[in-house]
Amino acid sequence: MRIVMIGTGYVGLVSGACFADFGHEVVCVDKDQSKIDALLAGEIPIFEPGLDELVAKNVEAGRLAFTLDLAEALPGTDAVFIAVGTPSRRGDGHADLSYVYAAAEEMAPLLPEGVVVVDKSTVPVGTGDEVERIIRETAPDLEFSVASNPEFLREGAAIDDFKRPDRVVIGVNDEHAERVLAEIYRPLTRNESPLVVMSRRGAELTKYAANAFLATKIGFINEIADLCEKVGADVRDVAKGIGLDSRIGNRFLMPGPGYGGSCFPKDTLALLKTGQDYESPLRIIESVVASNDQRKRSMGRKVINALGGGDQHGKTVAVLGLTFKANTDDMRDSPAISVVQALQDGGIHVKAYDPEGMEQAKKVIDKVTYCEGPYEAMEGADAAVIVTEWDAFRALDLDRMKDLLKTPLLVDLRNLYSRTDVERHGFEYVAVGR
Ligand code: NAD
Repeated sequence: MRIVMIGTGYVGLVSGACFADFGHEVVCVDKDQSKIDALLAGEIPIFEPGLDELVAKNVEAGRLAFTLDLAEALPGTDAVFIAVGTPSRRGDGHADLSYVYAAAEEMAPLLPEGVVVVDKSTVPVGTGDEVERIIRETAPDLEFSVASNPEFLREGAAIDDFKRPDRVVIGVNDEHAERVLAEIYRPLTRNESPLVVMSRRGAELTKYAANAFLATKIGFINEIADLCEKVGADVRDVAKGIGLDSRIGNRFLMPGPGYGGSCFPKDTLALLKTGQDYESPLRIIESVVASNDQRKRSMGRKVINALGGGDQHGKTVAVLGLTFKANTDDMRDSPAISVVQALQDGGIHVKAYDPEGMEQAKKVIDKVTYCEGPYEAMEGADAAVIVTEWDAFRALDLDRMKDLLKTPLLVDLRNLYSRTDVERHGFEYVAVGR
Protein backbone atom coordinates (compact mmCIF):
# COMPACT_ATOMS: atom_id res chain seq x y z
CA MET A 1 0.00 0.00 0.00
CA ARG A 2 1.10 3.55 -0.63
CA ILE A 3 0.56 5.79 2.34
CA VAL A 4 1.00 9.52 2.96
CA MET A 5 1.29 10.67 6.54
CA ILE A 6 0.57 14.34 7.20
CA GLY A 7 2.35 15.56 10.34
CA THR A 8 5.59 14.07 11.59
CA GLY A 9 5.11 14.56 15.32
CA TYR A 10 5.02 11.81 17.95
CA VAL A 11 2.11 10.05 16.27
CA GLY A 12 2.82 10.74 12.59
CA LEU A 13 6.48 9.84 12.66
CA VAL A 14 6.01 6.68 14.72
CA SER A 15 3.00 5.53 12.65
CA GLY A 16 4.78 6.35 9.38
CA ALA A 17 7.92 4.47 10.39
CA CYS A 18 5.93 1.46 11.64
CA PHE A 19 3.78 1.29 8.50
CA ALA A 20 6.99 1.37 6.43
CA ASP A 21 8.37 -1.40 8.62
CA PHE A 22 5.26 -3.49 7.79
CA GLY A 23 6.35 -3.18 4.14
CA HIS A 24 4.15 -0.29 2.99
CA GLU A 25 5.57 2.63 1.00
CA VAL A 26 5.28 5.72 3.17
CA VAL A 27 5.88 9.41 2.56
CA CYS A 28 5.75 11.66 5.63
CA VAL A 29 4.87 15.30 5.04
CA ASP A 30 5.28 18.18 7.45
CA LYS A 31 5.02 21.95 7.21
CA ASP A 32 7.85 22.46 9.65
CA GLN A 33 10.97 22.95 7.55
CA SER A 34 13.31 22.29 10.48
CA LYS A 35 11.67 18.89 11.16
CA ILE A 36 11.89 17.80 7.53
CA ASP A 37 15.48 19.09 7.23
CA ALA A 38 16.43 17.11 10.34
CA LEU A 39 14.72 13.95 9.08
CA LEU A 40 16.36 14.25 5.67
CA ALA A 41 19.69 14.61 7.45
CA GLY A 42 19.01 11.38 9.36
CA GLU A 43 18.17 13.08 12.67
CA ILE A 44 15.03 12.46 14.74
CA PRO A 45 13.41 15.69 15.94
CA ILE A 46 11.80 14.07 19.04
CA PHE A 47 13.00 11.64 21.69
CA GLU A 48 11.30 8.26 21.41
CA PRO A 49 13.19 5.06 22.27
CA GLY A 50 14.10 2.98 19.20
CA LEU A 51 12.69 5.46 16.68
CA ASP A 52 16.06 6.48 15.24
CA GLU A 53 16.93 2.90 14.23
CA LEU A 54 13.46 2.18 12.87
CA VAL A 55 13.48 5.34 10.72
CA ALA A 56 17.05 4.75 9.50
CA LYS A 57 16.30 1.12 8.59
CA ASN A 58 13.21 1.98 6.55
CA VAL A 59 14.75 5.02 4.83
CA GLU A 60 17.66 2.77 3.86
CA ALA A 61 15.23 0.17 2.49
CA GLY A 62 13.57 2.88 0.36
CA ARG A 63 10.16 2.50 2.03
CA LEU A 64 10.15 5.75 4.02
CA ALA A 65 10.63 9.26 2.67
CA PHE A 66 10.11 12.81 3.93
CA THR A 67 9.01 15.95 2.16
CA LEU A 68 7.57 19.42 2.68
CA ASP A 69 5.65 19.13 -0.56
CA LEU A 70 2.22 17.54 -0.43
CA ALA A 71 1.87 17.71 -4.23
CA GLU A 72 4.96 15.53 -4.58
CA ALA A 73 3.69 12.98 -2.06
CA LEU A 74 0.03 12.46 -3.03
CA PRO A 75 -0.04 11.04 -6.57
CA GLY A 76 -0.88 7.33 -6.56
CA THR A 77 -1.44 7.08 -2.83
CA ASP A 78 -4.01 4.63 -1.41
CA ALA A 79 -4.47 6.35 1.94
CA VAL A 80 -3.65 9.73 3.45
CA PHE A 81 -3.42 9.83 7.22
CA ILE A 82 -3.92 13.12 9.05
CA ALA A 83 -1.73 13.13 12.17
CA VAL A 84 -1.50 16.84 12.94
CA GLY A 85 -1.92 18.40 16.38
CA THR A 86 -5.35 19.07 17.92
CA PRO A 87 -4.44 21.20 20.95
CA SER A 88 -6.96 22.90 23.23
CA ARG A 89 -8.34 26.02 21.68
CA ARG A 90 -7.26 29.02 23.70
CA GLY A 91 -10.08 30.32 25.86
CA ASP A 92 -12.72 27.59 25.73
CA GLY A 93 -10.96 24.21 25.86
CA HIS A 94 -12.58 23.02 22.62
CA ALA A 95 -10.23 20.99 20.39
CA ASP A 96 -8.54 23.35 17.93
CA LEU A 97 -9.26 21.72 14.58
CA SER A 98 -7.63 24.37 12.43
CA TYR A 99 -4.63 22.14 11.58
CA VAL A 100 -6.90 19.24 10.60
CA TYR A 101 -9.09 21.42 8.39
CA ALA A 102 -6.05 23.15 6.86
CA ALA A 103 -4.63 19.73 5.96
CA ALA A 104 -7.98 18.76 4.37
CA GLU A 105 -8.06 21.97 2.34
CA GLU A 106 -4.47 21.54 1.18
CA MET A 107 -4.92 17.95 0.07
CA ALA A 108 -8.36 18.40 -1.55
CA PRO A 109 -7.21 19.55 -5.04
CA LEU A 110 -4.41 16.95 -5.12
CA LEU A 111 -6.13 13.74 -4.06
CA PRO A 112 -6.08 10.73 -6.43
CA GLU A 113 -9.28 8.81 -7.29
CA GLY A 114 -10.35 6.20 -4.75
CA VAL A 115 -8.15 7.53 -1.97
CA VAL A 116 -9.06 6.96 1.69
CA VAL A 117 -8.45 9.96 3.92
CA VAL A 118 -7.90 8.67 7.44
CA ASP A 119 -8.05 10.86 10.47
CA LYS A 120 -5.54 9.63 13.05
CA SER A 121 -5.50 12.83 15.11
CA THR A 122 -7.77 12.86 18.15
CA VAL A 123 -10.82 14.80 17.00
CA PRO A 124 -14.34 15.44 18.29
CA VAL A 125 -17.33 13.58 16.94
CA GLY A 126 -18.36 14.96 13.58
CA THR A 127 -14.90 16.10 12.45
CA GLY A 128 -14.83 13.38 9.78
CA ASP A 129 -18.08 14.80 8.38
CA GLU A 130 -16.49 18.24 8.13
CA VAL A 131 -13.29 16.88 6.52
CA GLU A 132 -15.49 15.12 3.97
CA ARG A 133 -17.42 18.36 3.31
CA ILE A 134 -14.20 20.39 2.85
CA ILE A 135 -12.79 17.93 0.32
CA ARG A 136 -16.11 17.57 -1.51
CA GLU A 137 -16.32 21.37 -1.89
CA THR A 138 -13.03 21.50 -3.82
CA ALA A 139 -13.33 18.13 -5.57
CA PRO A 140 -17.05 17.55 -6.21
CA ASP A 141 -16.50 14.63 -8.62
CA LEU A 142 -13.72 12.81 -6.79
CA GLU A 143 -14.34 9.31 -5.44
CA PHE A 144 -12.93 9.21 -1.93
CA SER A 145 -13.69 8.00 1.58
CA VAL A 146 -13.05 9.57 4.95
CA ALA A 147 -12.32 7.23 7.85
CA SER A 148 -11.36 7.54 11.49
CA ASN A 149 -8.49 5.55 12.98
CA PRO A 150 -7.67 7.00 16.39
CA GLU A 151 -4.22 6.29 17.80
CA PHE A 152 -3.70 4.83 21.27
CA LEU A 153 0.12 4.70 21.47
CA ARG A 154 1.91 6.01 24.55
CA GLU A 155 4.94 8.22 24.22
CA GLY A 156 8.00 6.42 25.56
CA ALA A 157 6.69 3.03 24.42
CA ALA A 158 5.26 4.21 21.12
CA ILE A 159 6.78 1.68 18.73
CA ASP A 160 5.84 -1.32 20.79
CA ASP A 161 2.34 0.07 21.35
CA PHE A 162 1.93 0.67 17.63
CA LYS A 163 3.18 -2.76 16.64
CA ARG A 164 1.43 -4.69 19.40
CA PRO A 165 -1.73 -2.75 20.15
CA ASP A 166 -4.51 -4.08 22.39
CA ARG A 167 -6.78 -3.22 19.46
CA VAL A 168 -6.96 -1.15 16.29
CA VAL A 169 -10.11 0.95 16.08
CA ILE A 170 -11.42 1.76 12.65
CA GLY A 171 -14.39 4.01 11.96
CA VAL A 172 -15.72 3.72 8.44
CA ASN A 173 -18.90 4.64 6.62
CA ASP A 174 -18.18 2.52 3.50
CA GLU A 175 -16.75 -0.85 2.56
CA HIS A 176 -13.91 0.47 0.41
CA ALA A 177 -12.41 2.35 3.38
CA GLU A 178 -12.76 -0.75 5.54
CA ARG A 179 -10.96 -2.91 2.95
CA VAL A 180 -8.08 -0.44 2.55
CA LEU A 181 -7.59 -0.06 6.30
CA ALA A 182 -7.85 -3.80 6.89
CA GLU A 183 -5.11 -4.26 4.28
CA ILE A 184 -2.89 -1.60 5.86
CA TYR A 185 -3.21 -3.21 9.30
CA ARG A 186 -3.08 -6.82 8.10
CA PRO A 187 0.42 -7.44 9.54
CA LEU A 188 -1.04 -6.63 12.99
CA THR A 189 -4.32 -8.46 12.74
CA ARG A 190 -2.39 -11.51 11.57
CA ASN A 191 -0.65 -11.32 14.95
CA GLU A 192 -4.02 -11.32 16.68
CA SER A 193 -4.45 -7.64 17.47
CA PRO A 194 -8.20 -7.25 17.00
CA LEU A 195 -9.47 -4.81 14.42
CA VAL A 196 -12.56 -3.18 15.87
CA VAL A 197 -14.67 -1.82 13.05
CA MET A 198 -17.43 0.67 13.76
CA SER A 199 -19.00 3.87 12.45
CA ARG A 200 -16.80 6.94 11.98
CA ARG A 201 -18.55 8.79 14.79
CA GLY A 202 -18.21 5.77 17.06
CA ALA A 203 -14.45 5.66 16.46
CA GLU A 204 -14.06 9.38 17.10
CA LEU A 205 -15.86 9.06 20.42
CA THR A 206 -14.02 5.85 21.41
CA LYS A 207 -10.71 7.70 21.58
CA TYR A 208 -12.06 10.37 23.94
CA ALA A 209 -13.93 7.82 26.03
CA ALA A 210 -10.72 5.77 26.42
CA ASN A 211 -8.63 8.74 27.50
CA ALA A 212 -11.33 10.06 29.83
CA PHE A 213 -11.66 6.64 31.45
CA LEU A 214 -7.90 6.37 32.00
CA ALA A 215 -7.79 9.92 33.38
CA THR A 216 -10.62 8.95 35.74
CA LYS A 217 -8.64 5.95 36.98
CA ILE A 218 -5.69 8.19 37.76
CA GLY A 219 -7.88 10.84 39.39
CA PHE A 220 -9.59 8.14 41.43
CA ILE A 221 -6.42 6.59 42.85
CA ASN A 222 -4.96 10.04 43.55
CA GLU A 223 -7.95 10.93 45.72
CA ILE A 224 -7.82 7.54 47.43
CA ALA A 225 -4.10 8.23 48.06
CA ASP A 226 -4.98 11.49 49.82
CA LEU A 227 -7.50 9.64 51.96
CA CYS A 228 -4.89 6.97 52.75
CA GLU A 229 -2.57 9.67 54.12
CA LYS A 230 -5.37 10.94 56.38
CA VAL A 231 -6.48 7.55 57.70
CA GLY A 232 -3.05 5.93 58.00
CA ALA A 233 -3.32 3.39 55.16
CA ASP A 234 -0.88 2.65 52.34
CA VAL A 235 -2.32 3.36 48.89
CA ARG A 236 -0.09 0.69 47.34
CA ASP A 237 -1.88 -1.95 49.43
CA VAL A 238 -5.26 -0.54 48.48
CA ALA A 239 -4.31 -0.37 44.77
CA LYS A 240 -3.15 -3.97 44.86
CA GLY A 241 -6.22 -5.03 46.78
CA ILE A 242 -8.58 -3.58 44.22
CA GLY A 243 -6.40 -4.07 41.12
CA LEU A 244 -6.30 -7.85 41.39
CA ASP A 245 -10.02 -7.81 40.74
CA SER A 246 -10.07 -8.42 36.99
CA ARG A 247 -13.08 -6.12 36.62
CA ILE A 248 -10.87 -3.26 37.85
CA GLY A 249 -7.40 -4.26 36.59
CA ASN A 250 -4.10 -3.32 38.18
CA ARG A 251 -2.85 -0.76 35.66
CA PHE A 252 -3.18 3.01 35.98
CA LEU A 253 -3.54 2.73 39.73
CA MET A 254 -0.28 4.50 40.63
CA PRO A 255 -0.84 7.74 42.51
CA GLY A 256 1.34 10.70 41.64
CA PRO A 257 1.38 14.43 40.98
CA GLY A 258 -1.61 14.33 38.61
CA TYR A 259 -1.86 13.44 34.95
CA GLY A 260 -0.36 15.69 32.29
CA GLY A 261 0.99 15.30 28.80
CA SER A 262 -0.22 16.07 25.34
CA CYS A 263 -3.44 14.02 25.55
CA PHE A 264 -5.36 13.56 28.82
CA PRO A 265 -5.68 17.26 29.79
CA LYS A 266 -6.79 18.46 26.37
CA ASP A 267 -8.89 15.40 25.53
CA THR A 268 -10.88 15.46 28.77
CA LEU A 269 -11.61 19.17 28.19
CA ALA A 270 -12.63 18.56 24.58
CA LEU A 271 -14.95 15.72 25.63
CA LEU A 272 -16.61 18.04 28.16
CA LYS A 273 -17.21 20.51 25.34
CA THR A 274 -18.81 17.78 23.22
CA GLY A 275 -21.01 16.86 26.19
CA GLN A 276 -22.09 20.51 26.51
CA ASP A 277 -22.72 20.90 22.78
CA TYR A 278 -24.98 17.85 22.78
CA GLU A 279 -26.56 18.70 26.17
CA SER A 280 -25.37 15.41 27.60
CA PRO A 281 -23.77 16.14 30.98
CA LEU A 282 -20.46 14.43 31.81
CA ARG A 283 -20.32 15.13 35.54
CA ILE A 284 -17.79 12.42 36.35
CA ILE A 285 -15.28 13.79 33.86
CA GLU A 286 -15.92 17.35 35.06
CA SER A 287 -14.91 16.24 38.55
CA VAL A 288 -11.84 14.42 37.27
CA VAL A 289 -10.64 17.54 35.43
CA ALA A 290 -11.20 19.79 38.46
CA SER A 291 -9.55 17.31 40.83
CA ASN A 292 -6.49 16.94 38.62
CA ASP A 293 -6.03 20.69 38.09
CA GLN A 294 -6.12 21.18 41.82
CA ARG A 295 -3.77 18.32 42.48
CA LYS A 296 -0.89 19.47 40.28
CA ARG A 297 -0.48 22.72 42.18
CA SER A 298 -1.20 21.13 45.54
CA MET A 299 1.92 18.98 45.03
CA GLY A 300 3.99 22.19 45.24
CA ARG A 301 2.30 22.96 48.55
CA LYS A 302 3.02 19.41 49.70
CA VAL A 303 6.72 20.15 49.24
CA ILE A 304 6.40 23.48 51.10
CA ASN A 305 4.61 21.69 53.95
CA ALA A 306 7.38 19.08 54.05
CA LEU A 307 9.87 21.94 54.41
CA GLY A 308 7.94 23.06 57.50
CA GLY A 309 5.00 24.92 55.95
CA GLY A 310 4.26 28.63 56.19
CA ASP A 311 6.79 31.02 54.72
CA GLN A 312 9.71 29.20 53.11
CA HIS A 313 11.04 32.21 51.17
CA GLY A 314 14.69 31.91 50.23
CA LYS A 315 14.81 28.10 50.40
CA THR A 316 16.08 26.03 47.47
CA VAL A 317 14.46 22.84 46.16
CA ALA A 318 15.98 20.32 43.75
CA VAL A 319 13.34 19.14 41.28
CA LEU A 320 14.19 15.78 39.72
CA GLY A 321 12.25 15.17 36.53
CA LEU A 322 10.32 17.71 34.48
CA THR A 323 8.62 15.78 31.66
CA PHE A 324 5.05 14.60 32.23
CA LYS A 325 6.27 11.02 32.44
CA ALA A 326 9.48 9.06 31.93
CA ASN A 327 11.03 8.16 28.55
CA THR A 328 9.84 11.21 26.68
CA ASP A 329 11.03 14.77 26.18
CA ASP A 330 7.41 15.99 26.07
CA MET A 331 6.68 18.84 28.47
CA ARG A 332 3.12 19.54 27.35
CA ASP A 333 0.94 20.11 30.45
CA SER A 334 3.53 18.41 32.65
CA PRO A 335 2.63 18.48 36.37
CA ALA A 336 6.21 19.70 36.95
CA ILE A 337 5.19 23.08 35.52
CA SER A 338 2.59 23.58 38.27
CA VAL A 339 4.85 22.15 40.98
CA VAL A 340 7.70 24.52 40.05
CA GLN A 341 5.28 27.46 39.76
CA ALA A 342 3.82 26.79 43.21
CA LEU A 343 7.33 26.61 44.69
CA GLN A 344 8.40 29.82 42.96
CA ASP A 345 5.21 31.57 44.10
CA GLY A 346 6.27 30.66 47.64
CA GLY A 347 9.61 32.41 47.10
CA ILE A 348 11.54 29.15 46.70
CA HIS A 349 14.40 28.84 44.24
CA VAL A 350 14.29 25.76 42.02
CA LYS A 351 17.23 23.80 40.67
CA ALA A 352 16.12 21.19 38.17
CA TYR A 353 17.33 18.25 36.16
CA ASP A 354 15.61 16.00 33.62
CA PRO A 355 17.36 13.29 31.54
CA GLU A 356 15.65 14.22 28.22
CA GLY A 357 13.31 17.15 28.77
CA MET A 358 15.62 20.07 29.57
CA GLU A 359 15.49 21.71 26.14
CA GLN A 360 11.69 21.60 26.05
CA ALA A 361 11.47 22.60 29.72
CA LYS A 362 13.53 25.74 29.13
CA LYS A 363 10.80 26.94 26.76
CA VAL A 364 8.05 26.68 29.39
CA ILE A 365 9.67 27.00 32.83
CA ASP A 366 11.54 30.17 33.61
CA LYS A 367 13.84 31.34 36.42
CA VAL A 368 15.08 27.85 37.22
CA THR A 369 18.71 26.81 37.52
CA TYR A 370 19.00 23.92 35.06
CA CYS A 371 21.64 21.39 36.18
CA GLU A 372 23.75 18.74 34.47
CA GLY A 373 22.62 15.89 36.67
CA PRO A 374 20.54 15.01 39.76
CA TYR A 375 23.44 15.49 42.18
CA GLU A 376 24.30 18.94 40.85
CA ALA A 377 20.65 19.90 41.37
CA MET A 378 20.77 18.70 44.98
CA GLU A 379 23.93 20.55 45.92
CA GLY A 380 23.02 23.10 48.63
CA ALA A 381 19.25 22.47 48.27
CA ASP A 382 16.91 22.21 51.26
CA ALA A 383 15.00 19.28 49.79
CA ALA A 384 14.89 17.01 46.76
CA VAL A 385 11.58 16.23 45.08
CA ILE A 386 11.07 13.47 42.53
CA VAL A 387 8.42 14.60 40.04
CA THR A 388 8.99 12.19 37.10
CA GLU A 389 9.57 8.44 37.44
CA TRP A 390 12.76 8.25 35.33
CA ASP A 391 14.83 5.08 35.88
CA ALA A 392 17.77 7.40 36.58
CA PHE A 393 16.06 8.42 39.85
CA ARG A 394 15.20 4.92 41.06
CA ALA A 395 18.58 4.11 42.60
CA LEU A 396 20.01 7.44 43.73
CA ASP A 397 23.04 7.29 46.02
CA LEU A 398 21.34 8.28 49.27
CA ASP A 399 24.61 8.83 51.16
CA ARG A 400 25.86 11.17 48.46
CA MET A 401 22.51 12.97 48.46
CA LYS A 402 22.70 13.43 52.21
CA ASP A 403 26.12 15.07 51.89
CA LEU A 404 24.94 17.40 49.13
CA LEU A 405 21.59 18.51 50.57
CA LYS A 406 21.47 21.16 53.30
CA THR A 407 18.74 19.14 55.00
CA PRO A 408 18.05 15.46 54.29
CA LEU A 409 14.48 15.71 52.99
CA LEU A 410 13.21 13.63 50.06
CA VAL A 411 9.72 14.22 48.68
CA ASP A 412 8.90 11.32 46.39
CA LEU A 413 5.83 12.15 44.29
CA ARG A 414 6.15 8.84 42.40
CA ASN A 415 6.59 6.45 45.31
CA LEU A 416 9.88 5.13 43.90
CA TYR A 417 11.51 4.42 47.29
CA SER A 418 10.96 2.28 50.33
CA ARG A 419 10.42 4.42 53.41
CA THR A 420 12.59 2.13 55.56
CA ASP A 421 15.56 2.41 53.18
CA VAL A 422 15.40 6.17 52.91
CA GLU A 423 14.87 6.71 56.63
CA ARG A 424 17.72 4.32 57.43
CA HIS A 425 20.00 6.76 55.58
CA GLY A 426 18.87 9.53 57.92
CA PHE A 427 16.33 11.19 55.63
CA GLU A 428 12.92 12.57 56.28
CA TYR A 429 10.78 10.90 53.61
CA VAL A 430 7.48 12.17 52.26
CA ALA A 431 5.67 10.07 49.66
CA VAL A 432 2.17 9.90 48.18
CA GLY A 433 -0.67 8.06 49.90
CA ARG A 434 1.43 6.23 52.50
P1 NAD B 1 2.77 16.94 17.31
O1 NAD B 1 2.48 18.34 17.66
O2 NAD B 1 3.96 16.24 17.90
O3 NAD B 1 2.91 16.81 15.72
C1 NAD B 1 2.04 17.40 14.80
C2 NAD B 1 2.83 17.70 13.53
O4 NAD B 1 1.92 18.10 12.50
C3 NAD B 1 3.83 18.84 13.66
O5 NAD B 1 5.10 18.39 13.27
C4 NAD B 1 3.29 19.93 12.72
O6 NAD B 1 4.32 20.70 12.13
C5 NAD B 1 2.56 19.09 11.70
N1 NAD B 1 1.54 19.79 10.92
C6 NAD B 1 0.55 20.60 11.37
N2 NAD B 1 -0.21 21.02 10.33
C7 NAD B 1 0.29 20.45 9.21
C8 NAD B 1 -0.07 20.49 7.82
N3 NAD B 1 -1.13 21.17 7.39
N4 NAD B 1 0.69 19.78 6.96
C9 NAD B 1 1.75 19.07 7.37
N5 NAD B 1 2.12 19.00 8.68
C10 NAD B 1 1.41 19.68 9.58
O7 NAD B 1 1.43 16.13 17.65
P2 NAD B 1 1.30 14.60 18.16
O8 NAD B 1 1.65 14.50 19.59
O9 NAD B 1 1.93 13.69 17.18
O10 NAD B 1 -0.30 14.44 18.08
C11 NAD B 1 -0.98 14.37 16.85
C12 NAD B 1 -2.40 13.92 17.12
O11 NAD B 1 -2.42 12.60 17.65
C13 NAD B 1 -3.16 14.78 18.13
O12 NAD B 1 -4.51 14.86 17.77
C14 NAD B 1 -3.02 13.99 19.41
O13 NAD B 1 -4.08 14.24 20.31
C15 NAD B 1 -3.09 12.57 18.90
N6 NAD B 1 -2.42 11.58 19.75
C16 NAD B 1 -1.23 11.88 20.34
C17 NAD B 1 -0.60 10.92 21.12
C18 NAD B 1 0.72 11.21 21.79
O14 NAD B 1 1.11 10.44 22.66
N7 NAD B 1 1.42 12.27 21.44
C19 NAD B 1 -1.18 9.65 21.29
C20 NAD B 1 -2.38 9.38 20.65
C21 NAD B 1 -3.00 10.36 19.88
